[in-house]
Amino acid sequence: MNHPHAHHQGHTDCSEVLHRIYEYLDGELEAADVARIATHLAECQPCLAQHDLDSAVREVVRRACVEPPAPVALRLSIMTQITTFRVERDL
Ligand SMILES: [Zn+2]
Repeated sequence: MNHPHAHHQGHTDCSEVLHRIYEYLDGELEAADVARIATHLAECQPCLAQHDLDSAVREVVRRACVEPPAPVALRLSIMTQITTFRVERDL
């Protein structure tokens, strides 16, 4: 008995893509899975939008983990310059 919504061979549905998007972004999937998801993203706008969003989040997290926060001295220097600029403009 054929299920009317049976998946075609090689078809990747949205739920699988969304479940595996982080593994995909982290490069933890096998080449065959990467290819299937890449193919799906090329054809599915909602999944691509989610991919772009997750990718952006990943990038922010990665930077926050790798880069040290701006040194206090640098922040003070920037704040001083901004304050000086405002004062001079107001004179
Ligand atoms: Zn999709």
